Amino acid sequence: MVMSVREIRVQFNPANTSECIGKIELDTISETEEKIDASEEAFQKWSRMSSVARGEILQTLANLLIEHMEPLAELASKEMGKTLPEMIGEVKRGASILRYFSQEGMRATGEVLPSASDDKMIYTKRVPLGVVAVITPWNFPIAIPLWKIAPALVYGNTVVWKPSIEVALTSQYMADLFVKAGLPDHVLNIVQGRGSKLGKVLIESPKVKAISFTGSNAVGQQILDVAGPTKKKIQLELGGKNAAIILADADLDLAAAKTIEGAMKQTGQRCTATSRVYIEAPVYDAVVEKLIENAKQIKVGVTMGPLASKQQFENVLEHIERAKGQGAKCIFGGKPVAELSEGYFVEPTLFTNVTHDMDLAKEEVFGPVLAIFKVADYEEAVRLANDSDFGLSASIYTTNIQKAFDFIDRSEVGLVQINDETGGAEPQAPFGGMKNSGTGAREQGQAAKEFFTTLKTITINGIQYKE
Ligand code: NAD
Repeated sequence: MVMSVREIRVQFNPANTSECIGKIELDTISETEEKIDASEEAFQKWSRMSSVARGEILQTLANLLIEHMEPLAELASKEMGKTLPEMIGEVKRGASILRYFSQEGMRATGEVLPSASDDKMIYTKRVPLGVVAVITPWNFPIAIPLWKIAPALVYGNTVVWKPSIEVALTSQYMADLFVKAGLPDHVLNIVQGRGSKLGKVLIESPKVKAISFTGSNAVGQQILDVAGPTKKKIQLELGGKNAAIILADADLDLAAAKTIEGAMKQTGQRCTATSRVYIEAPVYDAVVEKLIENAKQIKVGVTMGPLASKQQFENVLEHIERAKGQGAKCIFGGKPVAELSEGYFVEPTLFTNVTHDMDLAKEEVFGPVLAIFKVADYEEAVRLANDSDFGLSASIYTTNIQKAFDFIDRSEVGLVQINDETGGAEPQAPFGGMKNSGTGAREQGQAAKEFFTTLKTITINGIQYKE
């Protein structure tokens, strides 16, 4: 008999790369296949359980998450570098996602429709899909998995979850909490390992009926190429190159503070991070000064964490050097933090003299780097903000209500912010992007039901009572 060898993954703290924080055994391909089979079997019972009871398990999990908030946030913070307050915020957000979707178990799953015949009744019923593959990135190790897994489960699907290997320990902690909350065996199955190996098994399996993926455009495209022709349901949430516009009539202090928050929060490692800002010429100099002032307030190592991994660190520095090489002017930051060389710390970085043919204007950096542009007027700002292959989120800072409404209509993005930073999501609101930022149904809110269920139309003949 051929025994497959189990690989061990050791995790290090990106804030102090010599600190080992734990180990995990990775799954093999055959174990992944076994988990898909187990998930398919568990679907038979789980899909027939009352949705109210399914929702109650999510409610229990929400409470457990709050009880475990500190150890979970500490572990996740050490594993991927987000600061502890940022991670505590994410755990709380996870609990609110669970509370929202737990209530879905009590909501209507269809509607009664009129029939042309007086002897017929027609109604619709939303039904689960079967085994769903959930494939998640490392940058929100708690919130993103929960906003996929919670709706998948409450609507009656079973899940095989492949988290990013960068957050294997945090993901295992979460999976264990699902068990503690009373989820029956194999309703949620975690598979730990590299995406190129195990993710491939998931997307190719005919037993997997739907794939919900958040991650890079490159991997999203591979999923589309492999799974698209199989007619599986596919939801892809991909990258962003999110623009903010600051008009001359804006509250400039608010605009500058929010733009830096949007660019640097979570060390810029958010798909919705602000990565381009277009400033109207009359206030350009004043706003640039304010952006620098705000960037100076950031205490790297205290209020801003490290990049999540060596690969992230190298990628971000490579983007910075390329921008300099292409003629952009670094006016703030632009290098690793010398006093924090034990971790993957990079300074908050601001560039001016950026043109739209430079990579910095086009490619997602996924780090604390902001490209600053001067524009003649609102029209030029809208044209340049829309000049991107991505379409996730955008902000406008203005006190002119007509321009704000005009921007809502003309910005080519899924998420529009008025006088606020480009990030931010609440569980009851649909989330997702246009263009290369995603495809398939939106996530969260009632949109999640669209993706994680399909619709049956039922016609019952002979309903008239006749003596
Ligand atoms: P990634 O694409 O490298 O990995 C995402 C997941 O896909 C991981 O679990 C990985 O193991 C898996 N994977 C890798 N290769 C695979 C394959 N061939 N088949 C199946 N699965 C595979 O992304 P990442 O580096 O973890 O995350 C960062 C990216 O995620 C950024 O581009 C960011 O913009 C994006 N992101 C998007 C959103 C959104 O909602 N739009 C949210 C967060 C992050």
